[in-house]
Amino acid sequence: MGVFDNLEKALAFDSKDGEGVIENLDVLKNRFRELIEEGKKEYLSLGRELMEDKKIEQSVSAEIFKAKVLAWAKKIKVKPMEIHIRPMKRKWASSSSQGRLTFDVELLKQPAKFRSKVVVHELLHLKIPNHGPLFRSLAKALLSIR
Ligand SMILES: [Zn+2]
Repeated sequence: MGVFDNLEKALAFDSKDGEGVIENLDVLKNRFRELIEEGKKEYLSLGRELMEDKKIEQSVSAEIFKAKVLAWAKKIKVKPMEIHIRPMKRKWASSSSQGRLTFDVELLKQPAKFRSKVVVHELLHLKIPNHGPLFRSLAKALLSIR
């Protein structure tokens, strides 16, 4: 509150009104402190809410994730037999020729764009087992029109 101390000094004249001014100034100072405190609290809670919003926006539940996989499968016209979500050590996902898809549980916490990329990649493998030009151009096309 250095600014107020200086202001107080500047207003402390040798006049009769001096006292009154300082009293009023104290009231003003306290009100100002209150407002700052209120502002701080509001600002902090807003920041926290924004952070939580971001987390919510980024991560999805297993149920929602599976629903997204199925929506993509419909678009790509493939039918995954099983969708599993479990911790995986070396990859984000894998697919078997029998139509069994497995996704790393950590994928649920990744940004939506990245999740889609992985999902489209694995679903496309149910159609195309390699990463050739057809695979790559289909993946690119699917991910750009959304
Ligand atoms: Zn692949």
